[in-house]
Amino acid sequence: MKPQPNKGCDSCGKPMLFSLNIDSDKTGPLDVRAVVYVVRGDINAEGKAAQTAGKFLEQCEVIRMKDGREIKPDDLAFCVSHFATCPTPGRFSRG
Ligand SMILES: [Zn+2]
Repeated sequence: MKPQPNKGCDSCGKPMLFSLNIDSDKTGPLDVRAVVYVVRGDINAEGKAAQTAGKFLEQCEVIRMKDGREIKPDDLAFCVSHFATCPTPGRFSRG
């Protein structure tokens, strides 16, 4: 399932999805259009093969969490913080 943006950035106007980070309990903007890559093995090794997260998920049958829960790959999406991709981050208002 592809995430659907629900708001444009006040600074650059690009579509964003506001989400709750369940680790920090803070909301933040996600860039749903940035391509995210999966790299297996030593991330610091030069020349490692990479593939997009979307293609990686297409090859997964199920994602099994350590607590035993299983998540269907169709129910996942990988996004990047819009704080990292905004072309005009200096005008960002976090408030
Ligand atoms: Zn922006």
